[in-house]
Amino acid sequence: MSEFIPVFEPLLDGNEKKYLNECIDKGWIGSNGPFVKQLEHDFSAYCCQKYGSTVTNGTAALEVALQAMKDEYSWSDYDEIIVPSFNIISSAQACIYNKLKPVFVDCEDETWNIDVNKIEQVITPKTRGIIVVHIYGLPSDMYKILDLAKKYNLKIIEDAAQAHGMTYNGKKCGSFGDISTFSFYTNKHVASGEGGIVLSSDKNLIDKVNYYKNLCFTKDRFVHNHLGHNLRMSNLQAAVACAQLEKIEKTIAIKKHIGGLYQELLKNIPAKLSKAKMPYAENHYWVFGLVLNDDIKLNAKTAMEKLAQANIETRPFFYSLHLQRAVLNLGIKDNISRPVSEKIYEKGFYIPTGLTLTVEKIEYISNQIKALF
Ligand SMILES: *Cc1c(COP(=O)(O)O)cnc(C)c1O
Repeated sequence: MSEFIPVFEPLLDGNEKKYLNECIDKGWIGSNGPFVKQLEHDFSAYCCQKYGSTVTNGTAALEVALQAMKDEYSWSDYDEIIVPSFNIISSAQACIYNKLKPVFVDCEDETWNIDVNKIEQVITPKTRGIIVVHIYGLPSDMYKILDLAKKYNLKIIEDAAQAHGMTYNGKKCGSFGDISTFSFYTNKHVASGEGGIVLSSDKNLIDKVNYYKNLCFTKDRFVHNHLGHNLRMSNLQAAVACAQLEKIEKTIAIKKHIGGLYQELLKNIPAKLSKAKMPYAENHYWVFGLVLNDDIKLNAKTAMEKLAQANIETRPFFYSLHLQRAVLNLGIKDNISRPVSEKIYEKGFYIPTGLTLTVEKIEYISNQIKALF
C-alpha cells in the first residue's frame, strides 16, 4: 500500500518565493503592482496575442470576455453561443450570466474535444460565437472551426485553461481566439493558486475587459455609467504566475513524461487511454484519462472507489452540461442527442499526474489499475 497519492500536486521550485518576497518587501500586494503588468505582457507575448488582462480566475475570464464581446459587437439578449457539452460548467455559466444562450455540441470519441462535424447543424441566424475548449491535453481541431467561423461570421472564444503552451499545427493555443481565456488554478500548467487572464489582439475588446473587470470606473472616479465586477488579480498571485511561466517548458516536459509512462504501462488494459497524438498536436496530458471499454461491466464510479481504497485519488470526467440540473432549470433544453459526452461520463475518469510524482508511484498506480480487470 502506498501513501496517499493526490490527483495533482504543483511544483513551486522556481522563483515563486523570491518574487513573493519582493512583493512583501516593497509593499506591492494589490492589483496595481509590477508583476501584474509583467504577467499581462509576458503571457500575451507567449501566446502570440497583443494584449492581456489578468482576472481572479478562469471562470471570471470567460464571464468578462463574453460581457466585453456582447457590448463590442452589440449582441442581443439570448443570442446563441455554441459550447461543448463535455466541459466544466464555467462556459455555460458565462453565457447564462451574460444573457446569452448556450447551445451544446457533443464531443468526439478520440480526443473528447468538440465534434466539429456536429457544429454546423446547430448554427442558426442567432448564433454569434463558439467557445472552443481544449480538453485534457489535446487541442480542438482549430482549422475546421476557424473555417466555420469565417463561413458563418462567428466569433471564437478560445478557452485554453488546460492548454498553456500547447500547440495546434505548431501555433500556440490561445492564439486562435478573437478572445482567449486561461486559468491559473493550482492544477494548470501555469499556477498561482487562483487566477486567470483574458487575451486578445483587439485593443477595443481588452479595453472593455479592463473596464468591466474593474467596477466600470470612469475618468471621474466614483462616477459610473455601467455595472461591472471586481475581478482584479493581486500582485501576489501574479508574482507566482510569473515564476511559473518562466519554467513552463519544464512543466510540460514533466507532464509529457508522466503521460508517456502511463501509455506504456497501461497499453493493454480494456480501456481507451488519452490519445498520445493527433496529426495536428502532441498530447500535453493536462490530465491522463481513461474510458473503460463498453463491454466491461466496470463503470468509472466503481473503478474510482477501488483506486481510492488503494490510496489513489482520481477524478470523474465532466458531467455533460446539457444534463445539468442548473441548466435544465432555466428551460435550456432541446432534442439534440449527445451520446459521446454522456457515455464517457459513465465510463471515464482521470488518474494522478501531479508534478512531483515518482516513477515508482506511476508504476504502483498502473498496477492497481491493471488489478481492476
Ligand atoms: C480550470 C478551467 C476553467 C475554470 O478556471 P477557474 O480558474 O477554476 O475558474 C474553465 N475552463 C476550463 C476548460 C478549465 O479547465
